[in-house]
Amino acid sequence: MPRLQAMTWREFLHRGLWLAPLGLSLVFVLGVLGWVRANEAEEQEQQRQTLISDALSTEAQLRDRIDEEQAHVRQLAAALAGQAPGSAVLAAHPEVNAGLRRLWLSVTWLDARNRVLAEVPSESEANRYEDGLSLHLTAPVGTDSVLVIRYAPALLLKRGVPWWLARKYDVQLVDSADQVIASSTESPLRAAQGPRPSYRVALTGPLRASPLAQAALTDAALELTLRDPSPTAIRPLAWVLVAGFLPLIAVASWLLRRQMRQVQRAEVAGRTEAAWRRAMEDSALVALRARDFDGRLLYVNRTFSDMVGLPVEQLVGLLPPMPYWPPDALAEVTERNRRNLAGQAPREGYEARWRHSSGRMLDVMVFESPLVDAGGRQIGWMGSIIDITERKRLEDRERRQVETLAHNARLTMLGEVASTLAHELNQPLTAIASYGAGLSNSLAKLGVQDELVLGALQRLGQQAAQAGRIVARIREFLTRREPRHEPCDLHEVITAAVELLKRDCQRRGVALEMHLAPGVPTVLADAVLIEQVVINLVRNAADALQSGEGPRRITVSSRVAGEFVRVDVQDNGPGLQGRRVEQLCAPFYSTKADGMGMGLAICRSIIEAHQGVLDASDAGSGGALFSFSLPLSRQAQGETTHA
Ligand code: ADP
Repeated sequence: MPRLQAMTWREFLHRGLWLAPLGLSLVFVLGVLGWVRANEAEEQEQQRQTLISDALSTEAQLRDRIDEEQAHVRQLAAALAGQAPGSAVLAAHPEVNAGLRRLWLSVTWLDARNRVLAEVPSESEANRYEDGLSLHLTAPVGTDSVLVIRYAPALLLKRGVPWWLARKYDVQLVDSADQVIASSTESPLRAAQGPRPSYRVALTGPLRASPLAQAALTDAALELTLRDPSPTAIRPLAWVLVAGFLPLIAVASWLLRRQMRQVQRAEVAGRTEAAWRRAMEDSALVALRARDFDGRLLYVNRTFSDMVGLPVEQLVGLLPPMPYWPPDALAEVTERNRRNLAGQAPREGYEARWRHSSGRMLDVMVFESPLVDAGGRQIGWMGSIIDITERKRLEDRERRQVETLAHNARLTMLGEVASTLAHELNQPLTAIASYGAGLSNSLAKLGVQDELVLGALQRLGQQAAQAGRIVARIREFLTRREPRHEPCDLHEVITAAVELLKRDCQRRGVALEMHLAPGVPTVLADAVLIEQVVINLVRNAADALQSGEGPRRITVSSRVAGEFVRVDVQDNGPGLQGRRVEQLCAPFYSTKADGMGMGLAICRSIIEAHQGVLDASDAGSGGALFSFSLPLSRQAQGETTHA
């Protein structure tokens, strides 16, 4: 379950990865906006500080200006002292003209009772300020008159405020009721453009303490309002950048997502294809191997690994000689491998014998074809291998069957010929016996007493009868298909066979012994056929002993083994020399110059027709041991178990 969750998470992360740049961009944008904001706040604070210091300095400059004007008024008053008051005097005075040019609206000479003695109205542009609020500067002239200078605060602001401040700020005098008394500009932007940074400084000094100052002015203040709050360049730029950046990044993210989907789809398709390919390779019955030009294994599929019984990891990277090459044919396989790597492998494939890691040999059919890389360049050889062991085994069996059929056909024909021959021989043999008997009867009637002649005639008759019996037996054996199952005493049969061969064995210097276990029950068998089997086995043993040196011995023994009676024919000859019973019993297999190779084949079919088994092995003491076993009859089985 946690694994599943982990997978899901990974998958989720993988799927949402394309959102990462968008998310990071948004964080970046927010960061930029935050920075812009912080920067703005700092700038505003700075602006405020500048505003305050500018306001204070403006107020100080205006105060200095008024102080200066006051000094001029005092100088004028001192110059007028002792002169007869008159407008002409005033008008002619350069200080008056200079004052009017600067700031003054009018110069008035009042007596002690505030009656106008003389007055010079302003002719200058300052007349424009006539209607507005005016302030006064005074200075005593002598002891009984006073000089009053009227000036407009608006003009004071206009002239007294340095140009760079006037350009930057609206400088205004504002009363306690927030009414503008005077302004440095004719058209203040106030309120028209929304709130702008401003600062007020309370008036001090001569500005405030002007003796004729109206009451409102005592609470008036100097207000500096930033004309153009010069919006920081960063903010709009930031907005522009953000506005441009976000759609761009959104488009980029969408493109990325599309690209990722395509990649994912390609990945899934690739994985599916790889899985398909692997499944196909692994489920294929054909083993595959890729090799470079040095014969190094670059790739093998599972079928190949199963075929040779070695894991894929152990095989890949191996160089010849390969572990699956049969060690006894290494030179031949190395030569064939050299030929194949040189590109001379037969196009129709070639057969090879490999060795499974378990030691089992297998027959394979190999087809080599060029191994080509993605660029179309040949980089080695691709081999397809089919296991043909089973096919070859079946082919072999089929071939053997066909051979057996052919041999059986020949055997049948031979049987027919032999049967005819036996039939033909029967007649003359009977005739020989009859003539022999007739001759000895005639000689007896004639009174011939020659023992030698009579003995020879008697043996002639016996041999003819024996020959007749053998011919009859062979005929019966070859013509009859099914054995006759009659109660038969095996010991009698064996003894009869041994008796028949005794003389022959003596001639050959072979000691023929019998070890028959007592109490072997009767079996249901065809006595004639079983006798033929014993005769055949003993004769073969005698033949095998022919070439050997030293004492020659054949032992025929019998014993009961479970539900079978087993008869062994053992000799001390050369033994089987690695040959198996199947090979020996194959029809027409013979190592003898005059051998037919039919003896053991017929023996085996006789024993198998009796539900018995014929076997051959090397005897422990050297030589061969041929044995056959025949099933006990039911009755006999009961007897042995009770006994
Ligand atoms: P044949 O006797 O005509 O050769 P068989 O079928 O009887 O045919 O025997 C087949 C072969 O089996 C013999 O040629 C011989 O090589 C081998 N053989 C049979 N019996 C023995 C034995 N006792 N010892 C060694 N080889 C034997």
